[in-house]
Amino acid sequence: MSDVAGWVREFARLVAAEAPRLTELDSAIGDADHGSNLSRGLAAVVAALDAGSFDDDGALLKKVGMVLVSTVGGASGALYGTFFLRAAGSLADGFPGAFRAGVDGIAARGKSAVGEKTMLDTLVPAAEALEAGKDWAAVVAAAEAGRDSTVPMIARKGRASYLGERSVGHLDPGATSAALLVRAAADTLDPDA
Ligand code: ADP
Ligand code: MG
Repeated sequence: MSDVAGWVREFARLVAAEAPRLTELDSAIGDADHGSNLSRGLAAVVAALDAGSFDDDGALLKKVGMVLVSTVGGASGALYGTFFLRAAGSLADGFPGAFRAGVDGIAARGKSAVGEKTMLDTLVPAAEALEAGKDWAAVVAAAEAGRDSTVPMIARKGRASYLGERSVGHLDPGATSAALLVRAAADTLDPDA
């Protein structure tokens, strides 16, 4: 694959830039820590990339996953960590296959599916667009439409689910950060590589 380290670094840069917004979204339907959680974890990831050298892209993504699991408190650390660990093991299938493996890992770890107002509402349509061979503009559009589809949903997973009907009318923070993961990929990777 083209530049996996560049992808992860760009995700870290976008999340750092959007951290206040992500935390604001989490203050409406969660505990106001999504932006700070994820940007802290990704800063640790960037430090690990700067400090380490890796035999191959799989070893690099495995490190990314392990750092996220160990430094991000909260649901999103375990879930994004699982994404990168699973993707690391499936790079031989190309980016669409690795991305799909990561998304399936989140669904298994989170016991979650599309329609429950989570990061999966962004990531599953993006995985489908990648597998269909769509170009990056279409993949990003699918991710962002999925993100926006969370507004009218009732949260069924995570802290937002405690709000029940009161979660309706808000964008899901994890679906919003997940769109940044896809945008970072679009800006750094060749989808077929
Ligand atoms: P916490 O909820 O522990 O404070 P974060 O605020 O960092 O963790 O992340 C919240 C986001 O995690 C939610 O917006 C949602 O997208 C995602 N999430 C929570 N639980 C699940 C789950 N079971 N499956 C998929 N995504 C989930
Ligand atoms: Mg939170």
